[in-house]
Amino acid sequence: MTSKSNKEEISPEVAKLMDIVSGFSKIQLEITAHFAEFLYKSTRTLLKTVCMYCKKEMGVTEGEGISGDSGSICPECWSERFPGVPYPEET
Ligand SMILES: [Zn+2]
Repeated sequence: MTSKSNKEEISPEVAKLMDIVSGFSKIQLEITAHFAEFLYKSTRTLLKTVCMYCKKEMGVTEGEGISGDSGSICPECWSERFPGVPYPEET
């Protein structure tokens, strides 16, 4: 198929997972969600990204061993400080 989807692009892993959970009952989904949350919390370290100018929270990312806050710059503050310079997209 070549028709363009207006949905956000999802990775094959996520698509596969969504396919699996689509057959789940409500209780199975709840258990899976709790289990995933538990796994996530017990194995991941989270890094909260905060704009160092306006202190706006910009989301939480995988800290890869580091937990805490990470200084960044939000698109609004970026365009204020660097007018005309494109905001660096994160991968
Ligand atoms: Zn900001």
